[in-house]
Amino acid sequence: MAHSVNESCVACGACVDTCPVGAITMEDKAVVNADTCIDCGACEGVCPTGAIQAE
Ligand code: SF4
Repeated sequence: MAHSVNESCVACGACVDTCPVGAITMEDKAVVNADTCIDCGACEGVCPTGAIQAE
């Protein structure tokens, strides 16, 4: 299991700076590396559009 990003992402980058393990990279929207994500939920809390959720 990992967190994933939906179409509400506005590519603000808040999650990238928040992720403690560097699992998020920014392309046309945020992308979570499922192999690196530890499911801490930090990104979910900082996303202004609620675009990141546990799968
Ligand atoms: Fe990073 Fe935690 Fe979000 Fe996973 S749940 S992408 S480890 S901030």
